[in-house]
Amino acid sequence: MIVRDVHEILEAWAPKEIAWERDNVGLQVGSMLRRVQKILVSLDVTDEVVREAREKKIDLIISHHPLLFHPVKSVSGEDRVGRLIHELAKNGISLYAAHTNLDFAEGGVSFALAGRLGLRNTGFLQKDQFILKKVVVFVPADHIESVAAAMADAGAGRIGQYDNCSFRTRGTGTFKPLAGAKPLIGAKGRMEKVEEVSHPYDEVAYDVYNLSNPSASHGSGAIGELPREMPLSKFLAHLTRTLRIPGLRFRGNLRAKIRRVAVCGGSGSGYLQAAIQRGADAFVTADVTYHVFQESDGRIALIDTGHFETEQPIVPHLVGYLKGQLARRRERVGVFPSNRMKNFVQYYNS
Ligand SMILES: [Zn+2]
Repeated sequence: MIVRDVHEILEAWAPKEIAWERDNVGLQVGSMLRRVQKILVSLDVTDEVVREAREKKIDLIISHHPLLFHPVKSVSGEDRVGRLIHELAKNGISLYAAHTNLDFAEGGVSFALAGRLGLRNTGFLQKDQFILKKVVVFVPADHIESVAAAMADAGAGRIGQYDNCSFRTRGTGTFKPLAGAKPLIGAKGRMEKVEEVSHPYDEVAYDVYNLSNPSASHGSGAIGELPREMPLSKFLAHLTRTLRIPGLRFRGNLRAKIRRVAVCGGSGSGYLQAAIQRGADAFVTADVTYHVFQESDGRIALIDTGHFETEQPIVPHLVGYLKGQLARRRERVGVFPSNRMKNFVQYYNS
């Protein structure tokens, strides 16, 4: 098994195309052709995690947060990121980042958090828009099947549980080849009319449309229900226990009844309105600022349990997914959750 095979397993769940457009996901260090026998899964790449990888003879680290995000100033000991790249390369360890693609995939980061909290009937908090694109191509009738097959091979026409989806219709295309053209049909300077469904011509005719339809399999956050209603005071205790945290920040009435819970792993303040609109009693996320607490305005219990804590459940979840997929392929590849990754934020209690 090589890095590319692991990449394909991850793509089937959280394809790179669904990542935030300014994110940097995928292979960051190493080669797609390198052999993989041991995989380490972590939230971050740190000196400790790279040391752990070296000790365990890991071939590939899969990290949620990309190591390469901002421009790297130097690949030397002076730059934290450069130093880590150097260490990885020197030890033949490849690095793959699955970041916002894993946030937006069904069963991703927020679903892992919802699972950890024991939520049921979990679905996306918000279905995402503008991820889907519609491609229209124009080709002569005798080229339909080869063009359709090539497009399907490249991943076009996948809708929910179906692939090879297409719609075909006939029409009349017109064109006049100008000087310098090498037309497949017709002659330079003469107007042509062709019965076509679509076309492999000198200039490929195609349109790409952005769709506003919500995608069925990609979205943000998650919403579900607790097995039974509890007062906010009890729900907060449930959070500190299940996420193993010494404290949390929140705004809400401790006696408020909590049943329907929205969650978003990582910095999810942007989904506060969605959580309110979907009728959630509580919204659990991280990196909530003072003014976002102000904005919640008693309409929902808003709870910040920390960035690391809300994302950490994805690590065992991803390990489980990889193990399942590898077992199905009868691959003898070891997958380990990092036990050296740690929260960069510390708590102090006097
Ligand atoms: Zn994060």
